[in-house]
Amino acid sequence: MLDSGLSELQAALAAKKISSVELTRLFLERIGRLDGRLNAFITVDEGVSLAQARAADEARARGEGGPLAGIPVAHKDIYCTRALRTTCGSRMLENYTSPYDAHVIEQFERAGAVLLGKTNMDEFAMGSSNETSHFGPVRNPWNSGLVPGGSSGGSAVAVAARMAPVATGTDTGGSIRQPAALTGVCGLKPTYGLVSRYGMVAFASSLDQGGPMAKSAADLALLMNVMVGHDARDSTSLPRPKEDYARALELPLAGLRIGLPKEYFGKGVEPGVRQCVRAAIDWYERRGARTVPVELPHAALAVPVYYVLAPAEASSNLSRFDGVRYGHRAAQYEDLNDMYCRTRAEGFGAEVQRRILVGTYVLSHGYYDAYYLKAQKVRRLIARDFAAAFRLCDLIMGPTSPGTAFPLGAKTDDPVQMYLNDIFTIPAPLAGLPGLSIPCGFDARGLPVGLQIMGDHFAEARMLGAAHQYQRDTDWHRRAPKETPL
Ligand code: GLN
Repeated sequence: MLDSGLSELQAALAAKKISSVELTRLFLERIGRLDGRLNAFITVDEGVSLAQARAADEARARGEGGPLAGIPVAHKDIYCTRALRTTCGSRMLENYTSPYDAHVIEQFERAGAVLLGKTNMDEFAMGSSNETSHFGPVRNPWNSGLVPGGSSGGSAVAVAARMAPVATGTDTGGSIRQPAALTGVCGLKPTYGLVSRYGMVAFASSLDQGGPMAKSAADLALLMNVMVGHDARDSTSLPRPKEDYARALELPLAGLRIGLPKEYFGKGVEPGVRQCVRAAIDWYERRGARTVPVELPHAALAVPVYYVLAPAEASSNLSRFDGVRYGHRAAQYEDLNDMYCRTRAEGFGAEVQRRILVGTYVLSHGYYDAYYLKAQKVRRLIARDFAAAFRLCDLIMGPTSPGTAFPLGAKTDDPVQMYLNDIFTIPAPLAGLPGLSIPCGFDARGLPVGLQIMGDHFAEARMLGAAHQYQRDTDWHRRAPKETPL
């Protein structure tokens, strides 16, 4: 059961082979056994989870229940929940419990899912290694001396180590796809605006997007069916008719045009990553897909553009944490201004403070045009590159991350090295495009490699279909870490 996909769990629950209470207990026990070492969860409350599981079992007995009835789901601790505190990985929100549920949480509740716990993450989703969390780093189950990637590292590890069947994440510059790649699971960042940001703690609002993490593309499709939907409380939520994201899973690959941007295969990419990605693309070619060279000439500017725009938006979004309304407040201070200063100095970690300083600087009078405005213009050029590329191809493929998992502490003293991890994931959110990462092999050290599949706006079903075909013929996504045997 711990290793099962969603459809198997749905079938087992429907056939009464297992109850939701039993299933939830199984995962809670596994969390109890492994999480002391892996630290993938910030908050788990057996009472809350089992009460929801009991309610799901009772609903089923009455003949009711949604598509995920009785299935435990772990949520990144960036989604506000009434039932459990929402810390966002920060001391600022260590004791914060939201008075309302995020839209995504409501959607899962409506689908009948059970809240399994809140997963660890980089503080305010700022990071690529899960080392900026106030609650300590998350460890990679493939080798616990290595990072799992970030910022949705807790969700990635929960799925990789089979502590949760599926999980949610959020992606601003790669936080779903990069940890998925580094832990050998699947993760999808949807088109901007498909998943409501209501109740998702804001980092960089023009980039933030929630999405699913799971063991297979087929599971991601089922989760997308639950998560996507218009929500009037988010002004950027798209009013689109409901889609079935599982509808293209069986679509043949013959004739599919796969764009290969040379910018994604340059120096900087580890040989083990390059080999696995190349082998996956060869597989698609054998199945009748055609590769076409495409160019993303402004992709090289994506990281600097992102590190102007994301901090600018973050500095504004995080101004609400002032010790007055909610969250941490310094115990001692002299006057109001001193209270703000001490509260924010105590409540935010170093990386968050760095982003606020950079963001405030690039927005300041005299620098706004040189940095912020310039970055907005280059952002548009990056989006145009993609639009031109998608006239030549249906999907773009390349590595999710230039390297596999690295040791804890290896990049914490060098923010630029850390930022470069996201060189291949940052372009898609800058253009509002969807991106998917699926496992496509292992490097010489036995560490998972991720294949990134990008598509035009709203191409999620096609991307998931291409991934599913690959997963029917390969078993990379079924391999579980040796350090956490079932
Ligand atoms: N690693 C990137 C950052 O630190 C992306 C994080 C994210 O996608 N939330 O900003």
